Amino acid sequence: MTVITRFAPSPTGRLHVGNIRTALHNWMLARKNGGRFLLRIDDTDAERSKEEYVAAIRTHLAWLGLDPDGEERQSARLDRYEAAFERLRAADRVYRCYETAQELDLKRKILLGRGLPPVYDRAALTLSEADHAAKAAEGIAPHWRFKLDHDEPIAWDDGIRGPQKFDPAQLSDPVVRRADGSWLYMLPSAVDDLDMGVTDVLRGEDHVSNTAVQVQMFSALADGGQMPRFAHEALLVGSEGKLSKRLGSLGCDAFRERGIEPEALVALLARIGTSLPVEPIADRHALIETFDLATFGRAPARFDEAELERINTAIVHQLDYGAVADRLPQGMDATGWHAIRPNLATVGDAAELWRVVTGPIEQPDFSAEDRAYLAGAARALEWGEDPWHALTGALKEATGRKGRALFLPLRQALTGMDHGPDMAQLLPLIGEAEARARLERAAKGH
Ligand code: GLU
Repeated sequence: MTVITRFAPSPTGRLHVGNIRTALHNWMLARKNGGRFLLRIDDTDAERSKEEYVAAIRTHLAWLGLDPDGEERQSARLDRYEAAFERLRAADRVYRCYETAQELDLKRKILLGRGLPPVYDRAALTLSEADHAAKAAEGIAPHWRFKLDHDEPIAWDDGIRGPQKFDPAQLSDPVVRRADGSWLYMLPSAVDDLDMGVTDVLRGEDHVSNTAVQVQMFSALADGGQMPRFAHEALLVGSEGKLSKRLGSLGCDAFRERGIEPEALVALLARIGTSLPVEPIADRHALIETFDLATFGRAPARFDEAELERINTAIVHQLDYGAVADRLPQGMDATGWHAIRPNLATVGDAAELWRVVTGPIEQPDFSAEDRAYLAGAARALEWGEDPWHALTGALKEATGRKGRALFLPLRQALTGMDHGPDMAQLLPLIGEAEARARLERAAKGH
């Protein structure tokens, strides 16, 4: 059976790092099994859903390299939900309710006050047809709840959490449809997963109790369709160990602005919260190869921004010219990229380092002794295979200088900096004429 996974964001905001992680894992699960990864836009909430968010979700998945094999939209499938609802209604699995939000809140508070779980009391089930007619006469439309089967214990073998058991009597019958006819998340999602042949529902553990309810919806609706496997991953927390507001707002735009490569985000999010080591692996196939729900732990996954930066730097150092060419300063070729790459924290920093090659650079003031040394360097400069080692070798012999005294004035004169890229790689990029001019200028002083 082909593995089919889905990522089902509600387009009511931008993807944050937690959603990105869920999307990534669903993509990896599908890719690992040669299956399909669907993007499902959960846009039944017409008021809060926005087209700009749908567009941003697509753009960000593309930036992350998580290519969906298909896209579905709940707002285009309302007739399917209607049909499912009619079947549930015919089977007496949904019922009409009229409690207001305040009434429900009061009921909950009373139960909690008595130390009882705040489970809906099913008062609406006792209403007669005459009661319903009276409500209708008043112009009050019902909202609908799904009737959980209390005789059927709920159980599934969770791909991450192991065997799960729920007593349906401890759960509230979920509202599936509002009085205005619109849908809540629960039923459309189950209908879609069945229709689309989703084999694996992989999502955050905040959905565990939804799954308990949906397991009964699947049974009620399956009609030959297959209930998916479920896996709930532990939630993401910040490095301080708490769910932070910051994580909820960190999205692809913020990462991109900070020069984080999608590969770094992918490498980190693929493995945090698992027993596998987090490593700067730029090759997705290697990550997919080792992806395994059995390695996922129950403890929250820690997202550490400093770790992301470290991975990013290590990944930048591995990136091929072809992967970054369109983001490099003009004139910077593969040789330039390879010379500068090991000194970058982000690809964006290349521009600044490239200015060292193209100039102009700003040199420090040198002592008279160093100026004489640099004048000698300008004369000694010879252009061959490896001008840097030729130059420093000759100067070492001629002046007796070594270490810092030998190298630093040269680096400063040639680059204007105390640290930076490997001079042996940099010098050929600067070129003979420019290198000599810089040395001569430094020798003259300001
Ligand atoms: N739209 C739901 C959410 O964003 C989808 C959850 C699911 O994966 O079923 O939470």
